[in-house]
Amino acid sequence: MTWGCQMNEEDSEQMGLFLERMGYRAAVSAEEADVVLLNTCSVRSKPEEKVWSELGRLREIKQQRPHMLLGVCGCMAQVESDMLRRRAPYIDIILGTGNLGALPELVKTARSGKTATAHASVPAKHNFVALTALGLPPRKGKVVSDIPERIAERKPKHKAHVPIMYGCDKFCTFCIVPHTRGRERSRPTADILAEIKALALSGTKEITLLGQTVNSYGKNLPDGRVPFAHLLKEINEIPGIERIRFTSPYPRDFNEELIEQIGSLTHVCEHVHLPLQVGDNALLAEMHRGYTVEEYCAIVEKLRCSVPGLALTTDIMLGFPGETEQQFQNTLHLIKQIRFDSAFMFAYSPRPGTPAALRADQVEQKTKIARLNQLIALQNSITAEINAEWVGKEVEVLVDGVSTRDPHRFSGYTRTLKLVHFTIPHHSGPPQQWRGELVQVHIQEAHLTGFLGEWRPAKTG
Ligand code: SF4
Repeated sequence: MTWGCQMNEEDSEQMGLFLERMGYRAAVSAEEADVVLLNTCSVRSKPEEKVWSELGRLREIKQQRPHMLLGVCGCMAQVESDMLRRRAPYIDIILGTGNLGALPELVKTARSGKTATAHASVPAKHNFVALTALGLPPRKGKVVSDIPERIAERKPKHKAHVPIMYGCDKFCTFCIVPHTRGRERSRPTADILAEIKALALSGTKEITLLGQTVNSYGKNLPDGRVPFAHLLKEINEIPGIERIRFTSPYPRDFNEELIEQIGSLTHVCEHVHLPLQVGDNALLAEMHRGYTVEEYCAIVEKLRCSVPGLALTTDIMLGFPGETEQQFQNTLHLIKQIRFDSAFMFAYSPRPGTPAALRADQVEQKTKIARLNQLIALQNSITAEINAEWVGKEVEVLVDGVSTRDPHRFSGYTRTLKLVHFTIPHHSGPPQQWRGELVQVHIQEAHLTGFLGEWRPAKTG
């Protein structure tokens, strides 16, 4: 089970590949699995609460099936290994972030421990449920500093995530990530390009470059800094790669060259997720974000000039310690002014070990909830207005397959990362043939979460 960001999803995929190499295969449920891994997230308190509740459920399963290995991986394992051991001594494996390659060894060790205590011998083929990401062996305070070992040969798929850098050097005062994922490290450019070329040869059409501050890519490379804009340019040349995405860029790390490349490179999609957090300069300074509202707006303006049809999404945090009603209103005002296509909105929750968590002026929970509701209502109305403008237009969709909501429709995403469910009149081929195809869709209805439409045959001549 995986909680958290796309980096965690990518780590979970890697963990699955490591386990497959050991002879495991995916299990349908924890009740049938021989290894269950929870890949955890510490960015907010909610995902942590879910892990504790899941551990309680898995403990009961483990009592019935004592040979089942239970592992906790990812950010919680990185920063809270002592607490995990204390509160859940039945956990067999604790694996923090940044050390995926240690998983096989830890599984072997845990398994031999089980055999030594005279539990049933392990069957030749094991099942696993990979629930998430990895980290270092549980040594509290150890700094995550390596590039994680990876399995580059992936299963063929039409879209793939490719991590290009790990960790973060920004130390925003509310954020635990630099503590859980360590300082910034970039993967060598040649490794990234080789991985993407191999993906393209196996049929991948869309790649998403991943990093905590993805556009600061290139620092500390042995051959000298390779700017993110140059990396995009190289990837844009790889035959077969039709769409290039990246997440999440950091506002301060945009420059003129990068903005220009996003607009001119044909395969770079017209979508940027640009985390704002708040629309108030005093709060931005207290958060240690390193930009002002005016600087953020200048980047938005340049991006919109350079990239016609750009979809802009963001992260908004409310209820940071000391946030006044006026400061919250400043955020709402800025949202009305910028008009994001959509936003990931959440209330601040104190993360132990971060400076903001120590502040005495925490905002009351009921105030946070009221502000969150106000924020969601505003953003939803903007999203609905922006989406309505797409009705009657034709868009390119990369097909993911049959829609999970309606078996009579297919679904996929536009270049602007909008979800489209669409029908195919009189189609004769089996649905699988559409997966991974780039098709044209006529938009008929707009909703908050995406569109309904109808497939249009490609124009010829
Ligand atoms: S940039 Fe700030 S919010 Fe983003 S991961 Fe780094 S410290 Fe956290």
